Amino acid sequence: MQDLPITQQPIAIASPLPRKSRQARVVWRNNVVTVGGDAPVRVQSMTNTDTVDAVETAIQVRQLAQAGSEMVRITVNTPEAAAAVPYIREQLDRMGEYVPLVGDFHYNGHRLLTEYPACAEALSKYRINPGNVGKGDKKDKQFGQMIEAAARYDKAVRIGVNWGSLDQELMARLMDENSRRAQPWDTRQVMFEALISSAVDSARLAESMGLNGDNIILSCKVSGVQDLISVYRALAQRCDYALHLGLTEAGMGTKGTVASAAALSVLLQEGIGDTIRVSLTPQPGEARTQEVVVASEILQALGLRIFVPSVTACPGCGRTTSTIFQELAKQIDDYLRGQMPLWRMKYPGVEAMKVAVMGCIVNGPGESKHANIGISLPGTGEAPAAPVYIDGEKALTLRGERIAEEFQALVENYVARTYGATAAAPA
Ligand code: SF4
Repeated sequence: MQDLPITQQPIAIASPLPRKSRQARVVWRNNVVTVGGDAPVRVQSMTNTDTVDAVETAIQVRQLAQAGSEMVRITVNTPEAAAAVPYIREQLDRMGEYVPLVGDFHYNGHRLLTEYPACAEALSKYRINPGNVGKGDKKDKQFGQMIEAAARYDKAVRIGVNWGSLDQELMARLMDENSRRAQPWDTRQVMFEALISSAVDSARLAESMGLNGDNIILSCKVSGVQDLISVYRALAQRCDYALHLGLTEAGMGTKGTVASAAALSVLLQEGIGDTIRVSLTPQPGEARTQEVVVASEILQALGLRIFVPSVTACPGCGRTTSTIFQELAKQIDDYLRGQMPLWRMKYPGVEAMKVAVMGCIVNGPGESKHANIGISLPGTGEAPAAPVYIDGEKALTLRGERIAEEFQALVENYVARTYGATAAAPA
């Protein structure tokens, strides 16, 4: 068999396409979160506490923010919830947590934003769902009341369409028009058109009512991966508003994680999407912050953001008959993530650190040398010694029962030495 000729062209290096959206600003005090344009793709999340319980909600908002969420959405569904919002904001400010709060409004947002001005003021962004803002001739009036509040308090707005609550009057009209086409579209295509029209037309209406278009972010969420890709590709062609991406009702655990990663990665690689949320259903006992972890990991895996030091760990194989290296990899990963709220302030740049935890001599030393700090644990039949590599050089060998603790201490020392104030000081 003849070998194929080696091409003389260098292989193209893949990277996400640049985004082309306008830039919005979501602000609380001196914390200005830019969204869209050349701003980093932002991570959002949403609480699942009862907003009326201001303390519990503030605690969860803080947990989400500390995990890396740059905006946190809270349900504002009743007068009591609207009344609690300023107290939630106050609790957060007292804790020094200035993450912007987004109010999630459905059905009665026009009343709540009008009758609870302190709520309207304390929020940094309003999520408006055009599918349930009102029916018939009340629709534009009630939508206008929310837009008026956003303009008055200079807040950003997300016009968030969801296929589960799509404007039924619009859908009926488009279905009607479709039936008169010589070659009618597939029903799914009509639904996509309704989602996009609802978002874009509402945004244009908001601008005509006096809202600055730069303060508008759009979303059109559906729960199918291919559907989401279809809708957002078309949406990005039809407008230049900043776009919030998310696979709605993604589901639980592995399914929700993989489906979200699959859909969001395709779009982000194409330069579509300015903020993301991973709508995971928490598994029993699972922390709400898991959705932030997954969203951050998607952005980090694509090379769009760096949030936490990465741990390279091998999958293990027949050369590893104990679970020591799995336990060590998990322990180090949990440790690094747990330290980040503190390290982010204390050790600038630490998020780019790479740590390797490997299972045997085959790839262990090689991967460990590529990392800032790495350990190659002994595989089955190897001498019970674990060489540690620091900045590409073998530094020492660990032995005995306390390898995990000793390696963690080495990582801690490396971080302080490499990213600490003295490391950054000029010579
Ligand atoms: S590094 Fe060793 S233990 Fe890990 S997967 Fe490769 S061969 Fe298996």
